[in-house]
Amino acid sequence: MNINITTIPGDGIGPDIVREGCRVLDAVGKKYGHSFAYTEVLAGGAAIDATGEPLPEATLEACLKSDAVLLGAVGGPKWDALPGAKRPEKALLGLRGGMKVYANLRPAVMFKQLSAACPLKPEVVGDGLDILIVRELTGGIYFGDRGRSDDGNSAWDTETYSKEEIARVVKIGFESAMKRNGRLCVVDKANILETSRLWREVTESMKGGYPKVELSYMYVDNAAMQLVRNPGQFDVIVTSNMFGDILSDEASQITGSIGMLASASLGDSGPGLYEPIHGSAPDIAGKDIANPLATILTCAMLLRYSFSLEREAACIERAVEKVLDEGWRTGDIAGSADSRAALGELLVGTRKMGDLVVQAIQSM
Ligand code: NAD
Repeated sequence: MNINITTIPGDGIGPDIVREGCRVLDAVGKKYGHSFAYTEVLAGGAAIDATGEPLPEATLEACLKSDAVLLGAVGGPKWDALPGAKRPEKALLGLRGGMKVYANLRPAVMFKQLSAACPLKPEVVGDGLDILIVRELTGGIYFGDRGRSDDGNSAWDTETYSKEEIARVVKIGFESAMKRNGRLCVVDKANILETSRLWREVTESMKGGYPKVELSYMYVDNAAMQLVRNPGQFDVIVTSNMFGDILSDEASQITGSIGMLASASLGDSGPGLYEPIHGSAPDIAGKDIANPLATILTCAMLLRYSFSLEREAACIERAVEKVLDEGWRTGDIAGSADSRAALGELLVGTRKMGDLVVQAIQSM
């Protein structure tokens, strides 16, 4: 397969982690006979510096023309004082809307090798954690009408969902559950919100098409609590834009390692948008200490979801497991300096971690 990928390194640690992701794609491509052509474009702070705009038109055009988009992260203190519409993060909403990627898939997986980093008690986590959160990404309150009253003393944000918007993302929830452990939980606030009641109505009208999926509903306040009380009860969660934003960050923290978590944003057709869930980490940028594994695992999602290259995706995931099994750690997933030797952990930087995954792929 010949695959065209648009890369958006972005700001901070973005360029370093995207470079490692591409090296890993090339290694797996070499092993299985695929070739990747990369087109690098600007977004975020780097684009503001070069063009004055967080998302230049040429960037969106290049993304729409490619087979898949790999994004590092955008933002940083240099651009924090800019007005909302000119900030680097504006590029993210523009990309999601422009690429029509309405479903954000965020697996929250705890690697057994990193269980010590989990903030929950072992008896709560049990055998580990493997949840997929499907978040609606291009509708709801983040995209609804908002404003201030003339006197400036009140403000509003509006949550609107159409049946079509709900159905297409709930479908991805059902289909994901079919491919996993067969359980789908719709998280909402149907005791208060009319939009949530519409989510339930639409879901009820669809459930007949998925007789093997065990469907449940949960209010978002309870879901936030259950995630830390008994996370193992969840398989796939599907939810609205804002609830998904909050719950997926909570779930990611349970795994104990923001530097390990991948995400995919998908639409009906056209390229998917793939990015690690963390930001540009300006505090560690340029030091060769960022963990590239979230981006590398994001590349596995890219192969699986955009090209159905399951064998290749699994190869990357196994390579990451192998490297962790051997004790290699970047600083964010390593124990303290005192405990590392006892735990058999070996501290490495961004580039070396990429090398190790490439070598693991070559050796398998
Ligand atoms: P962040 O995710 O960048 O960093 C939070 C903490 O996690 C920091 O201590 C950082 O050093 C650490 N961290 C993050 N990724 C890491 C990695 N791969 N390896 C090791 N440590 C890692 O969140 P923040 O500090 O709130 O935001 C920094 C900037 O990133 C802001 O400008 C924010 O708006 C932006 N941001 C961008 C995205 C995106 O591009 N999708 C997402 C979130 C935040």
